[in-house]
Amino acid sequence: MPTYNHIACVGLGLANACLINELRSMGFTGHISVLEKATAPDTHKRWCTWKPLPSMLRDIHANEWQAWTIKKRTEQHSLASVRHAYTEIKASDFWEVQLARLNSDPHTSIHYSTDIANYKKIKDLPLPQSAPLDLIIDSRSIQMANSQYQQQFVGWMIETRHASFDPESAQLMHFTEETDRIAFLYCLPYSETRALVEYTTFQFGAFSREQHTFALKTALNERYRLTDDQYTLLSKEAASLPMGSYPHPKPLSGYWPIGIRGGAIRGSSGYGLLSICEQAKRYADSILKGMARPKAPPVNHHLTQYLDRIFIRAIRKNPQLGQDCFLACARKLNSQQFVELMRGELSFASALKVIASMPTYTFLKALF
Ligand SMILES: Cc1cc2nc3c(=O)[nH]c(=O)nc-3n(C[C@H](O)[C@H](O)[C@H](O)COP(=O)(O)OP(=O)(O)OC[C@H]3O[C@@H](n4cnc5c(N)ncnc54)[C@H](O)[C@@H]3O)c2cc1C
Repeated sequence: MPTYNHIACVGLGLANACLINELRSMGFTGHISVLEKATAPDTHKRWCTWKPLPSMLRDIHANEWQAWTIKKRTEQHSLASVRHAYTEIKASDFWEVQLARLNSDPHTSIHYSTDIANYKKIKDLPLPQSAPLDLIIDSRSIQMANSQYQQQFVGWMIETRHASFDPESAQLMHFTEETDRIAFLYCLPYSETRALVEYTTFQFGAFSREQHTFALKTALNERYRLTDDQYTLLSKEAASLPMGSYPHPKPLSGYWPIGIRGGAIRGSSGYGLLSICEQAKRYADSILKGMARPKAPPVNHHLTQYLDRIFIRAIRKNPQLGQDCFLACARKLNSQQFVELMRGELSFASALKVIASMPTYTFLKALF
């Protein structure tokens, strides 16, 4: 059985921060060397999900919305839950807590500005000689192929001149009329005049950042009657993320992929926070017990994974179906079942309800 006394974590992002946290709280006393390409963790983004949050995130300040909507044209569905509020954790708050812990940990050393192009490079680093490396946990991003199923978005934090948003309700998906991809406007309202608005697409292949920006401006105009002179742009964000059925790099013995690289991202929705925390916990448990890497991808309930795979297969042939599926779920599921679906924790009974809510004929036609 392997024993792990010295671990290298490549990348200091959400996944490796969660892993280190789990390792230390489970009593791991070995050395951890963190190798991060940037000069500091990325404090600009945010992570949203439905409560309850994993224990390591519970003490961090979080914004929450107890209602959320899904909409297409005149069809709007509002769901609400106090217990399962839609919650936002700002990366700046997360890192304030994590860095305080990491920096005061005598057995963790962080090496910033360390770009690991390949694993051989790790051998040349000034890591503690007394403790040879037993394991490398790798969270580096994956090069996406052009045709891969991916989520892309451009988001703007804006302040409007006049009251434009309902701060009580987050808008998860306001679908557009596009038929060759799943495309929607996402809006996190912080007040009547301030919101994060994002134009998001799910599709096989890339859709340029310029096209996303153009679509975002158009949507602001059409949905909120906001022209350029009626709001101030406070900050911007943009990302492209692989979803679901992409080829993960084949894990080598002694090298465990984690986070998005480790497949811990939902194929149907692109949410990764909960899956990543769960994967980190399982990795930590295996390390403590001196076991091999838990089977990849170990995240999400099996049933949810299975449904996600069918969903992706169907929308490859008929992207329009994706919007119909989300709308159908919002129409037919109650808030509790909807949260179970989005958290990847479907019970068998709720899974049957999800399947029953699908547009069956169109779905089967797309599959076969
Ligand atoms: C803008 C954005 C918003 C998101 N919002 C949500 C959300 O609301 N809810 C949700 O559930 N999920 C969300 N996700 C998806 C997912 O939860 C996050 O991407 C999450 O941060 C992934 O964690 P990770 O550790 O796998 O990757 P990251 O957090 O990206 O960490 C990877 C780290 O590796 C470093 N690195 C990369 N290459 C190298 C190299 N060669 N050498 C050394 N270091 C390297 C990077 O600098 C980075 O620090 C979001 C993703 C993005 C990009």
